[in-house]
Amino acid sequence: MSSNLMAQEDYKNKNEKYEYTVEKKHEVLLFNADDLKFKKRPKNIILFIGDGMGTAQLFSGLTANGGELNMSNMSYVGFSKTESSDNYVTDSAAGGTAISTGKRTTNGTIGLDANGERLTTILEYAERNEKATGLVSTSAITHATPASFIAHQPSRNMYEQIAADFMETEIDVFIGGGADFFNKRVDGRNLVTELSDKGYRIGYNLEEVAPVSNGKLAVLTAIGHNAGYRDRGEMLTESTSKAIEVLSNADSKGFFLMVEGSQIDWGGHQNDAAYVTGEVLDMDKAVAKAMEFAIKDRRTLVIVTADHETGGMAVEGGDPEKGYVKTGFTTGGHSAVMVPVLAFGAGAEEFAGIYDNTEIFEKMYKLFKFKQEDRD
Ligand code: MG
Ligand code: ZN
Repeated sequence: MSSNLMAQEDYKNKNEKYEYTVEKKHEVLLFNADDLKFKKRPKNIILFIGDGMGTAQLFSGLTANGGELNMSNMSYVGFSKTESSDNYVTDSAAGGTAISTGKRTTNGTIGLDANGERLTTILEYAERNEKATGLVSTSAITHATPASFIAHQPSRNMYEQIAADFMETEIDVFIGGGADFFNKRVDGRNLVTELSDKGYRIGYNLEEVAPVSNGKLAVLTAIGHNAGYRDRGEMLTESTSKAIEVLSNADSKGFFLMVEGSQIDWGGHQNDAAYVTGEVLDMDKAVAKAMEFAIKDRRTLVIVTADHETGGMAVEGGDPEKGYVKTGFTTGGHSAVMVPVLAFGAGAEEFAGIYDNTEIFEKMYKLFKFKQEDRD
């Protein structure tokens, strides 16, 4: 790994800042819930993971945006209990793996069970069932959360091995940082060339791939992680739109897409209200694109959840009119508290209640009508 990328693991350094006032509120999607008639079962699922997004993070965003979010207009609400197989407080690797595979594993582990046995992810089951698949992330695409959906490695830090695992799949679209893990590798492989040979269109920013509306697409938007919300523009919203466009045009039986708002977690680690809240608002704009698609399509389910809470955050006060929020934090790490699951569209009602994070996989598997006898 280059020193540059090591430096990008500094995201846990504290930058304590408890107050935030939004620079610009965003408009939320307008729709009449009574007019919406979704199919019972989804053909497509768009799963958002706000890394580290607990109820306080969500409510901070809601307050800062004047009391309105797209996420708060989703129809069904549940809570997910996030403990891993070896710790009441999970990390993103075990948290992601629980959601992607339905099995709890040890902290730090990607797509393997607690005994190191390979687990099959919802993305891999989707591929087997002839669905198109995609991953979008504001971190490196090889970071723990997206990695949990496509890779199988004993450590989340094995970024180059995780990148190589992308080559073992037929994923249709992926957009995120981490270019160096594909084309500046210790083993000398150039995965960008390999992807190109496999028929992927490659881009290094979204402008370059603007004309691409179908086929296989890999966009590596940063050498390591993407910049924070202030400096990366509308990367997440544009990536979400692009992924939905390409996946919905695929010659497939629907699609599965995971979109990660990675840096909500990093703001939590830093106890930085602005970083947390800015990232929540950024993800909310991307969620609007998915909800808009679901409203048109009627066979799409949109889920928004988190792998865990970060920071032990509280909202201590605020003024929605001014977009002001005052927060507090109890830790620089993750906390054990359950996290929200918001659902909208086809099959959304399945997500009401309080359940283990592994149930999110079970619900998606069942809603997709994948056969129980086909499970590994
Ligand atoms: Mg993450
Ligand atoms: Zn974290």
